Amino acid sequence: MSEMINVEELFASRVFTLGKMKEKLPMQVFAEVRRVMEQGGELPLATADVVARAMKDWAVENGATHYTHWFQPLTGITAEKHDAFVSHPDSEGRMLLEFSGKELIKGEPDASSFPSGGLRATFEARGYTAWDMTSPAFLKEDATGVILCIPTAFCSYTGEALDKKTPLLRSMEAISQQALRIVRLFGDTEATRVVASVGAEQEYFLVDREKYLQREDLIFAGRTLFGAPAPKGQELEDHYFGTIRERIGAYMKDLNIELWKLGVTAKTQHNEAAPAQHELAPIYESANIAVDHNQLVMETMKKVAGRHGLTCLLHEKPFAGVNGSGKHDNWSLCTDSGMNLLDPGDTPNANVQFLLVLACIMKAVDTHADLLRQSASDVGNDHRLGANEAPPAIISMFLGEQLDDVVKQLVETGEAAHLIEGGKLETGVSTLPDFKKDATDRNRTSPFAFTGNKFEFRTVGSADSIASPNTTLNAIVAEAFCEAADTLEREVAEGKDFELAVHDLIKEYMGRHQRIIFNGDGYSEEWVREAQRRGLPNIRSMVEAAGTLTTDKAIRLFEKFGIFTRVELKSREEILYETYAKTINIEALTMINMANKKYIPAVVSYTKSLADTVIAVRGAGVDPVVQTELLREVNLQLTAAKKALKELERATAQAGDIKGVKAQAFFYKDTVKEAMDALRIPVDALEMLVDKKVWPVPSYGELIFEV
Ligand code: ADP
Ligand code: MG
Repeated sequence: MSEMINVEELFASRVFTLGKMKEKLPMQVFAEVRRVMEQGGELPLATADVVARAMKDWAVENGATHYTHWFQPLTGITAEKHDAFVSHPDSEGRMLLEFSGKELIKGEPDASSFPSGGLRATFEARGYTAWDMTSPAFLKEDATGVILCIPTAFCSYTGEALDKKTPLLRSMEAISQQALRIVRLFGDTEATRVVASVGAEQEYFLVDREKYLQREDLIFAGRTLFGAPAPKGQELEDHYFGTIRERIGAYMKDLNIELWKLGVTAKTQHNEAAPAQHELAPIYESANIAVDHNQLVMETMKKVAGRHGLTCLLHEKPFAGVNGSGKHDNWSLCTDSGMNLLDPGDTPNANVQFLLVLACIMKAVDTHADLLRQSASDVGNDHRLGANEAPPAIISMFLGEQLDDVVKQLVETGEAAHLIEGGKLETGVSTLPDFKKDATDRNRTSPFAFTGNKFEFRTVGSADSIASPNTTLNAIVAEAFCEAADTLEREVAEGKDFELAVHDLIKEYMGRHQRIIFNGDGYSEEWVREAQRRGLPNIRSMVEAAGTLTTDKAIRLFEKFGIFTRVELKSREEILYETYAKTINIEALTMINMANKKYIPAVVSYTKSLADTVIAVRGAGVDPVVQTELLREVNLQLTAAKKALKELERATAQAGDIKGVKAQAFFYKDTVKEAMDALRIPVDALEMLVDKKVWPVPSYGELIFEV
C-alpha cells in the first residue's frame, strides 16, 4: 500500500491564505487588508508592518530563511532575488529575524538586465516591485531552502510596466468597470466587481533525462532540431487518454502533491494525443491568480520531473511529425455576486443580457483578431499555428449549432423565436441513463470556441505565460462593453425604450461581426480561402504579429483603458523582435554545433567503415553491390549536409550584422530559418541510412516511446 494522501491537509499548506491571515492578524488589521484587496488602495505602513511580521513568523515556522519579491518580467518566466530575514545581531550576538512592512510592500531590484525594449535607454535602470495583494504569498522549497515568495508587479522608476502582471491587473480593472455598467443596465444593483476567470489546461511532454542530456538541441532549444520520424507516431491514437504508465503515474502523483501544497487546484490529468505527451488542468480562478498559478505549474512540472529521472518539455513543438503542445485558456466573466455573464441559461434566445455580452465579444474578437493572434504568439508557437494540428493562425469564433442558429435568426429577422434543442442522446441500454446532448458540441479546430459558459482560447502556446492572452481578451471586451454601455445609456437618456435599444444593438453588432463566426473545419485549405474572402487576418508568424501592438487601433484601445501606454507598446514590440532573433540564433548555432561535432564526424567514420568493407568484400572475390550503393547514398547526403551547413553558417553570420531589431527578426525568419530547415533534411535522411549503433544521439523512437 502506498502512503495515504490527505488532500485537505496538504492543500495550500504552503500558502499564506486569507484564512491564515485572519487567524494571525488582529481583527482590525485583517479588515484593512481585506478592504485594500477588494477595493484597491494602499496599506498604511504601520499596518503593513503587522502583516509582514505575521507573514514572516508563519514562513519561519515553516522553515523559511529568505524572502523574495516574485515577479514576471518580459522574459515570460518568473524572476526572484532572495534576501535572508537576517538583521544585525544584537549586542550579545543573537540573531533576530526581521521583515518590515516596507520590505513586504516594495522592492528595488536592478532592472537593467531584464528586457525593457528601449524603455531602459530613455529612463532610469531602477525598477520597483510592488506587492500584489490579490495573489497570496507562498513558500517555495528547493535546494536553496524554503523561500517566502511575495507576488509582485514590476515597474520602472517612472511607472512603465516592465512585466506581464501590471497590464493584466490594469485590464482586469477595465473589464470589471465596463462589465459592471452592462449588468447595471440590466438592473443588477448588487455586484461590485466583475472578475475575469481563467482555467488554463497545460500540455507537456516527458522524456527520459539521460536521453535528454545526450541532445544539445533539447538542452539549448527545448526542442529537437533534427530527428527522423519513428516508425510509429500517433496514428493509432492509442496514447490519448491511454492508461498512464507507472513512471509517469508516480510523476503525476508527486506533481499534484506539490501543486496542492501551493494552493493550485490541480484537477484533471491525462495522456495527450502524442506519445509522451500529457495534460494537467486546474480549476479556474481569478485571471491574476490563474496566471501566477500557471507559472507555478510550469515550474513545478520541470522541478518534479528531475526527481523521477525525467525532463519536462514545455516547448510548443518538441518533435516534428507528432502533435505539439498548447494551453487552452478558458475564460469567463463572473460578478462577485456569483453570476457568470457567459452563462446562456436554458433559453439563450430569451436571455437578453447574455446575447448582448455575446454580441460584444463577437465585436471585440472581430475588431481585434490581430491582437488576439499576437497575444498568443511566441517563437515556439510558430510551429503549431496553422500547421493542421493546432488552431489555425486565423482567429475565428465557434459558437455551436444552437447559438449559431440564434445569431442567424437575430441577424436575419431581428428575433430569435425558436431554439434548436440540445436533444437527447439515447444510449439504447436500459441500465444506462440517456443524456441530454450538450448544445455546444465541440469543434477542436476552432481557436476561440464557446464551451457552455466560457470561451476556450486554444491558440496559446504551452511554454508561454497566459498573461498576454488574458490581458488582451479583457481589453478588447472591455472596449466593446464600454461602447455598448455608452450607446445604451445615451439612448435611454434620450427616451428610447431600453428593451428596444438593446435589441437593436445586438442585431447591429451581430450583423456587422458575423463574419468572425466559423463552425467548419479550421484546418482545411478552404477555410484559408474563405477567411481571406471575409477579410479576416491570417498572420502566419510571431514577427508578423508583433507590429499589431502598435497600430493606431491598438494604441487607442490600450491607452483608453490605461492598460498600456504607446511607449510600453512600442517597447513590447521591440522585445518580441529581439526575443525572436535571439531564439532562432540559439537554434541555428545549436544546429551548426551538432552538425559539425556530432553528425558529420559520425557519418564520416561510417563511410570509412563502409569503404573498408567494400574493399574487403571485393578482396574476397565478391562484388559488394549493396555496400557500394549504400556508401554512395550516404556520401551523397553527407555532401548535401555539408553544403547546407555552410549555408546556415553564412546566414547566421550575416544575421548578426543586420541593423534594426525588426529587420533582423525578419531576416532570421525568412533566411536563417529556411537554412535550418534545409540542413535538417539531409541529416534526417542520413539517420534513416546509417547504422543505428553509430548514430550519435537518441532517436525519436527512443525519446518518445521509451519513457
Ligand atoms: P474540457 O472539456 O475542455 O477539458 P473542462 O470543463 O474540464 O473542459 O474545463 C477545462 C478548464 O476550464 C478547467 O480549468 C476548468 O476549471 C475551466 N473552466 C470551467 N468553467 C469555467 C469558467 N466558467 N470560466 C473559466 N474557466 C472555466
Ligand atoms: Mg478544453
